[in-house]
Amino acid sequence: MVTVRRGVAEVDAIVVGSGPNGLAAAITLARAGLSVRVYEKSARVGGGAATAELTLPGFHHDVCSAVHPLALASEFFQRFGLADRIELAVPEVSYGHPLPGGTAGLAYRSLTRTVAELGRDGAAWNRLFAPLVAHSERVAEFTGAQLLRLPNHPVTALRFGLRVLEQGSSPLWDLRFSGETAPALLTGVSAHTIRALPSLATAGAGLTLATYAHAGGWPIPVGGSGAIVTALVDDLLAHGGEIVTSTEVRRLSDLPPARVVMLDLTPRALLRLAEGELPDAYARRLRAFRYGNGVAKVDFALSDPVPWQATGLRAAGTVHVGGTRAQIRRAENTVARGRHAEEPYVLVSQPSGIDPSRAPAGQHTLWAYTHVPRGSTIDQTEAIVRQIERYAPGFRDTILASAGRTATQLEQHNPNYVGGDISAGEVSLTQLVRRPVLSPDPWRTPLHGVYLCSSSTPPGPGVHGLAGWHAALSALRSELGVRTVPDLSPTNEK
Ligand SMILES: Cc1cc2nc3c(=O)[nH]c(=O)nc-3n(C[C@H](O)[C@H](O)[C@H](O)COP(=O)(O)OP(=O)(O)OC[C@H]3O[C@@H](n4cnc5c(N)ncnc54)[C@H](O)[C@@H]3O)c2cc1C
Repeated sequence: MVTVRRGVAEVDAIVVGSGPNGLAAAITLARAGLSVRVYEKSARVGGGAATAELTLPGFHHDVCSAVHPLALASEFFQRFGLADRIELAVPEVSYGHPLPGGTAGLAYRSLTRTVAELGRDGAAWNRLFAPLVAHSERVAEFTGAQLLRLPNHPVTALRFGLRVLEQGSSPLWDLRFSGETAPALLTGVSAHTIRALPSLATAGAGLTLATYAHAGGWPIPVGGSGAIVTALVDDLLAHGGEIVTSTEVRRLSDLPPARVVMLDLTPRALLRLAEGELPDAYARRLRAFRYGNGVAKVDFALSDPVPWQATGLRAAGTVHVGGTRAQIRRAENTVARGRHAEEPYVLVSQPSGIDPSRAPAGQHTLWAYTHVPRGSTIDQTEAIVRQIERYAPGFRDTILASAGRTATQLEQHNPNYVGGDISAGEVSLTQLVRRPVLSPDPWRTPLHGVYLCSSSTPPGPGVHGLAGWHAALSALRSELGVRTVPDLSPTNEK
């Protein structure tokens, strides 16, 4: 434990919070030549990207994020050369979706194979995704920045926008497909956004993630999400940065003077840390920022792979459990009304199928979470087991141990997840544009040199480092007049 010393100008830049965005901001500033210090509340670096033995010895679980489509698509990670620094395993089936009756939909990395297996809805799936997959880097370019900005590729943006309108509104979203599999497959990925279905925000996120599923795929880091953090930390330390763990910053005035302060925190935390210092109008806008519903998570140590009835699901990195489009809609809309769903939508990742280092030989880890009302204190282990068991009879018998965390416990672990909201702020269309305020530079606060850089700022949730990257570039421009974009490549070692 290191105590923050008051009034001593020791560093150019301070970063509060060592999540992927905090570390991305720290690296960008360090690469620009600034001395940087990161303060982290937890004993462990990495925020929502960490791996630990949560159940039994030898079983390595991702504490929060597990699957990383955004790691490949993110401009920050591309410049950082993440794929050259760590091993990313990319499953052949990005995501799968069991359906009643023992069948399943499979979204392969190959769009062609996906289309071929979707039967009569294959052509419609192809028309929906082929133009986006062909220009996935353009999709990443405008979804990875601020929505207010004019897109560099207006034709792709228009195509994307029209598809969002279609899949984001009822009854339009039901007109494209005639069978049950394709709509369920798309609903499973859209439901990642914790909101009533359909909506423009769920459709936007779903179409983006589904596009990446057929472009670079949905990789998992070999060894776990903590590998991403190790790569970030190694780079920061190699470029002179320092990290101080087990140190919660309670007041901005407790920090030593610095030219730039980057906060990998929510607007609620900024209000608390800067109490009485923020202009009233800005503080009012931060208070109006809404937090979404929550997540309850369970990690399992398994003796065997999940015995999915539809055997194709064994090759899927991610499985969306919850049944048909109508069933998932019912579950998600129940949560949106503030109640627990009886048959919830469950997101499942089975990393050990593709990365044997996660568990002792022949055994497996399983990561699963479901959506719950914000602030829920109810453990969802039994509800999740029941849902998986419905599509994988015998699953219960494979469980060696489990570790559940409620939405409230997620917030206790990381205060950015207010009420268990893992997006650090509701993901609605309004809050994608106004995140957390409507501004051409939403990362900059009215306090001199102070920036927000968490997923409460554009482009929103996910392990992509883009919020930290954008915030750091804004700080370099505005506070230091630096317009050159720092080189982040692995070859630029100090
Ligand atoms: C259960 C779960 C599953 C997820 N699954 C995925 C997934 O599969 N793929 C994906 O891309 N994303 C996933 N996410 C979301 C992803 O983890 C987050 O969007 C991402 O971590 C946000 O990064 P961040 O840097 O903005 O904040 P965080 O990662 O939340 O980091 C914030 C850091 O700030 C620290 N902190 C907070 N307050 C203080 C303080 N006052 N002083 C000092 N330090 C402080 C916290 O301890 C934390 O380390 C998941 C999240 C959760 C919780």
